[in-house]
Amino acid sequence: MKAIRVTDFGGPDLLKLQDVPDPKPDSGQVLIRVKAVGVNPVDTYIRSGAYARKPNLPYTPGTDAAGIVEAVGSGVKHFKTGDRVYTNGTITGAYADLALCEQSRMHPLPAKVSFAQGAALGVPYGTAYRALFQMGRAKAGEILLVHGASGGVGIACVQFARPLGMTIIGTAGSEKGRALVVAQGAHHVVDHRMVDYEKQIMSITEGSGVNLITEMLANVNLAKDLGMLAQGGRVVVIGNRGTIEINPRDAMAREAAILGLILWAATDAELTEIHAGIVAGLENGTLRPVIGHELPLADAPRSHQLVMEPGSYGKIVLVP
Ligand code: NAP
Repeated sequence: MKAIRVTDFGGPDLLKLQDVPDPKPDSGQVLIRVKAVGVNPVDTYIRSGAYARKPNLPYTPGTDAAGIVEAVGSGVKHFKTGDRVYTNGTITGAYADLALCEQSRMHPLPAKVSFAQGAALGVPYGTAYRALFQMGRAKAGEILLVHGASGGVGIACVQFARPLGMTIIGTAGSEKGRALVVAQGAHHVVDHRMVDYEKQIMSITEGSGVNLITEMLANVNLAKDLGMLAQGGRVVVIGNRGTIEINPRDAMAREAAILGLILWAATDAELTEIHAGIVAGLENGTLRPVIGHELPLADAPRSHQLVMEPGSYGKIVLVP
């Protein structure tokens, strides 16, 4: 099969399409014929060598894929050859024609959901569910600020929160991104590149502040986030690319909580809950991943550049 291989940590050009032997499923494992691969920012951090969790070299990147079951190992009960599935983790890497997975990391992909959309679920929708429900205690009637709503995780937050009955303020840095955020269900949209965007957000809340923030760039926004919270408000830190100075008094005055999230820390039971919620939302049509770019697998280097550029518009997927 063809697979993207990384033989050294460094820049995007180190992602090389190569021939490698086909993997074979062992007991409890499933082999997927990959139809689409989700490109996540974390794939670039790992490739660069800057991430805390480093794979052994050489490796094939990627956790999120969608496709068709090609073969199953002994003891696999819930999947059979020909099933449409998505993954939230692979053994051999997702950037490939075939991906080997533990059956616990596979989930059914409803017929109305495309493979590209299936590849957009694992990290983005898993993170959004964990941020809103497992950490943020999201409730109907509350005001949610999705700070960075135009990308993979942000759109998922908007789509989960809207049918719950939250009032949603989403932010994006481009005109196109802001139009997308409204189309996905946000009640209000704000440009996070404006110097005083927090004044607009406070005005939308009529001065009361927001109850919950899902934050995609904490090193830029956390200090302002604390000042925008209502009493008892929560900030879930999802994305962070540096350091920031905050005034702890802003949190004290509101009895606010700053909650750091790392999806890898979710337990098996929490992942079961997360994917039951995602599959239900796909089935009832409330979750509809938006695909901004589809590129051939050989263009993995370009996809790693694109995912780090401003002007996000949904998800970037690779097609083997
Ligand atoms: P993505 O698809 O690349 O989207 C990035 C989002 O961040 C876009 O909405 C972008 O908006 C927004 N953004 C850019 N500048 C911003 C600013 N100054 N203030 C607020 N938002 C800003 O990435 P993603 O998959 O949604 O992931 C978002 C972040 O969360 C990444 O840093 C990722 O590494 C992290 N993450 C962490 C976990 C975890 O376990 N903690 C899990 C998943 C993702 P514009 O492009 O419109 O400006």
